[in-house]
Amino acid sequence: MTKKIVLASGNMGKAQEFGAILAPLGFELHLQKEFEVPEVAENGLSFMENALIKARHAAKYSQLPALADDSGLCVDALNGAPGIFSARYCGKWGHDQENNAKLLKALDGIPAPQRTAHYYVALAYVRSEHDPVPIVVTGSWDGTIATKALGSGGFGYDPLFLVTGRNCTAAQLPPQIKNTISHRARALALLVSELKRAHEI
Ligand code: IMP
Repeated sequence: MTKKIVLASGNMGKAQEFGAILAPLGFELHLQKEFEVPEVAENGLSFMENALIKARHAAKYSQLPALADDSGLCVDALNGAPGIFSARYCGKWGHDQENNAKLLKALDGIPAPQRTAHYYVALAYVRSEHDPVPIVVTGSWDGTIATKALGSGGFGYDPLFLVTGRNCTAAQLPPQIKNTISHRARALALLVSELKRAHEI
């Protein structure tokens, strides 16, 4: 029997990535727009809190178990910025090029060894709005920040994210590779093992 869950995101790329892993495990993934879930303020202090806010909100409006993610780029030389503000680093939501330009400017003159960074994601799964035992897992992916954009794949900061151990940026990786080694892929693998441990799959 398939188990319906709602994904608290409007991002089709994420939906495909999550769906590819969860569908073979018996989950039927629905997008929150099907349930007219209104926007929610992402006003948590951490990725985990924001993921939980989004998951509880989607569960409330859909009356289904919900999965949410909250992710971002943390740059060591910037004390972890842009962090939870990654999507709106330039002051507006979702302007990748302006975010990348601001990041390059913030790191201007900083030498390569000090340009270390990681992507981070928190995934939250709740069975209902008030689930007292949500499953929350995290994943990270190490890299350094390039001095110019390279590659056209991926999204967000990928053209600037030089992947540790590979001679390329995340935007130069084929999607099927990115989707097996990224922060989200790692967190999803952990989520699947937690769901198995909880006998949910
Ligand atoms: P979210 O959709 O609220 O989790 O926003 C996360 C933001 O972090 C995105 O808008 C991107 O700027 C950045 N981000 C998170 N994951 C990635 C990734 O895999 N590649 C590039 N940027 C990412």
